[in-house]
Amino acid sequence: MVQSQLRQRGIRDERVLAAMERVPRHEFVRADKQHEAYEDQPVAIEACQTLSQPYIVAAMLEVIAVRATDTVLEIGTGSGYQTALLAELAQKVYTIERHAALSTSAEERLLSLGYTSVTFVVGDGSLGLPQHAPYDAIVVSAAAPRVPESLVAQLAEGGRLIVPVGHADSQQLELVRKIDGKASATTLDGCRFVPLIGREGFPE
Ligand code: SAH
Repeated sequence: MVQSQLRQRGIRDERVLAAMERVPRHEFVRADKQHEAYEDQPVAIEACQTLSQPYIVAAMLEVIAVRATDTVLEIGTGSGYQTALLAELAQKVYTIERHAALSTSAEERLLSLGYTSVTFVVGDGSLGLPQHAPYDAIVVSAAAPRVPESLVAQLAEGGRLIVPVGHADSQQLELVRKIDGKASATTLDGCRFVPLIGREGFPE
């Protein structure tokens, strides 16, 4: 997976590649989907949600350039796969999921794999998690109709936010950087994520 799907398609960040070598993706996929764990595609998980394709996860992590001293916020815990990668890359990870059952099983999975730097929260991540802000990096792994203002407000100076923005069935990745207190956005690749459902996302 790392060689043929990531290196060959241009992922260069050695810390991201090493993290993707280390995190056992099959542990985040249920028994009947095990054969799909390392395929070049998303994998269905519980609650009608999906574990993203390896390449898109790597591309998002590369673009937000997480440093070992960073505090990171993830919106959309899902299986916890990307959460584990963030725990490999950052000092502290906060992750929010709206489905309590997904959050609980992701938390159990990460603890059994030995990750102790992650705090799991159940709630509407479109509003961020102001009580622990600011964040050096914020990763949204669900699609929003526009960049959520609450998330931009919770970025630290020099902070990076990556979020898929667009319609329910097709989006583009937006990278927002905060420099001298001002946020500026860059539009990156097209993508397709499940919807971010919440106050600054799509209605239920
Ligand atoms: N990164 C995940 C992919 C999860 S799919 C993984 O590696 O498995 C996106 C997730 O976002 C889903 O689990 C969905 O329930 C969750 N989600 C959607 N809207 C949300 C919101 N407003 N707050 C928190 N989580 C949300």
